[in-house]
Amino acid sequence: MFFDPLYFLFTVPALLLALWAQSKVRNTFAKYAKVPTLTGATGWNAAQVLIRSNSLDVKTEQIAGELTDHYDPRSKTVALSQSSIINSVASVAIVAHELGHAMQHREKDPLLTLRSAIVPIVNIGSGLGPWLFMAGTLLGLSHGLGSTLAWLGVAGFGLATIFALITLPVEFDASRRALAMIRENRLLTETEMHGAKQVLDAAALTYVAAAAQSLLTLLYFVLRLNGSRRRD
Ligand SMILES: [Zn+2]
Repeated sequence: MFFDPLYFLFTVPALLLALWAQSKVRNTFAKYAKVPTLTGATGWNAAQVLIRSNSLDVKTEQIAGELTDHYDPRSKTVALSQSSIINSVASVAIVAHELGHAMQHREKDPLLTLRSAIVPIVNIGSGLGPWLFMAGTLLGLSHGLGSTLAWLGVAGFGLATIFALITLPVEFDASRRALAMIRENRLLTETEMHGAKQVLDAAALTYVAAAAQSLLTLLYFVLRLNGSRRRD
């Protein structure tokens, strides 16, 4: 079971996609982090301009790291990393994307609300999932309890997959809002917008890869359990 070729068939392509997406986002970000904006706007300026022009009730704070930017709906804070507050096309794109999440939050976007609501149960489910699955296989899948535990474990993985899938439209929408806000506020020229879009598309790809990885792992476990049931 632990050296199952089927497992590698399901996980290796997704892993390769994830690695490719990671390197693409890093390279695209590095490329446009070196391109200063013609307006002279920094990521930090962009945040202030977009907060004001959209009358957003959010705070900004600086955090350590690169590409660690995020929006925290509980404290209504946009956390911007050191690499995102400088004067670059990439910084403006990333900052606008995080403010896109702040806009979703203010408008009570249903998918964003759902995603935040399921976080605790997803954490429990994906934490317990592998243990339940293992306990189930140890007890024996022909055994009623063993099979139930294994399926509960798979349901735990399923929650994580649902979370990863809901994340996709939320992220795409935040990037769509970001580009619209950048254009409205003339933070970038049309040529620079192309670079901003590339940065955001590369970032979106990492979420697609994560969702594919989650979905394929789930599918693998479902197939394994179905197969063992048929053999029993
Ligand atoms: Zn995002």
